[in-house]
Amino acid sequence: MPLQRQVGEATIVALSDGEGPFFESRTKAFPTATPDDWRKADETDPASVTAGGGWLLRFRCFAIRLGNRTVIVDTGIGPADAPAASWAPVPGRLPAALDEAGIHPDEVDTVVLTHLHTDHIGWAVQAGKPFFANARYLMQQTEIKAIEEYASPAGPYALDPLRAAGQLDAVDGEHRLAPGLRVIHTPGHTPGHQSVLVESDSGALLVTGDLLVHAVQLVAPETAYTHEMDSDLARTTRVALLRDLAGREGGATLAVPHLGDPFVDL
Ligand SMILES: [Zn+2]
Repeated sequence: MPLQRQVGEATIVALSDGEGPFFESRTKAFPTATPDDWRKADETDPASVTAGGGWLLRFRCFAIRLGNRTVIVDTGIGPADAPAASWAPVPGRLPAALDEAGIHPDEVDTVVLTHLHTDHIGWAVQAGKPFFANARYLMQQTEIKAIEEYASPAGPYALDPLRAAGQLDAVDGEHRLAPGLRVIHTPGHTPGHQSVLVESDSGALLVTGDLLVHAVQLVAPETAYTHEMDSDLARTTRVALLRDLAGREGGATLAVPHLGDPFVDL
């Protein structure tokens, strides 16, 4: 049974696409983190440390089921020929994880792609066709622009086939999916990075995307990550949103792609 959480009427299901060591040392990835930050991070998330003191990364997607809606947030590292193959342990196992969760790809109505990085767009397509045949794929307009501007591999691999199939929707800022379920713009990691916020009277849950990628950015939210495209903006976004969520009555939960556990209660 996959790990899941309930927020009001919404069920949020964690889907594992794979795991593997990061390609560079964690001190290089988070150069400003102090020994004290690392000690706190490792206490919070011991499962993300390799035997050799490196960073063990999970690659996770989430499904949100609400009424007759099925929304997928991010699509992992993808099949063997996906662009993440240059650094991540492809093929991912998202199709099996969906099956275990009782979700058929054809019943997914919306796919939210948080950002352009190759470990988030992998199963958007398979063999040049949308993997989720009946879904609208949502990406921020600014992210689509960045993909084109920086000639990201996400363009030819995912955007072009999604566009050709007429399944790509450009979103500008906040976008409501259903009552209590919305996409929010969380820029910094990439220009058009977006997250998904689930809210009910009893609490809130944020599917973060790469708003934070390691527990060190949870225990010390000001910590920059080398692969953020705009570290200052990423920091501002992360600090403000984590503060907002932590202060909410009824509490809040993060659903995270890369930490050891899929859900973190604030
Ligand atoms: Zn990522």
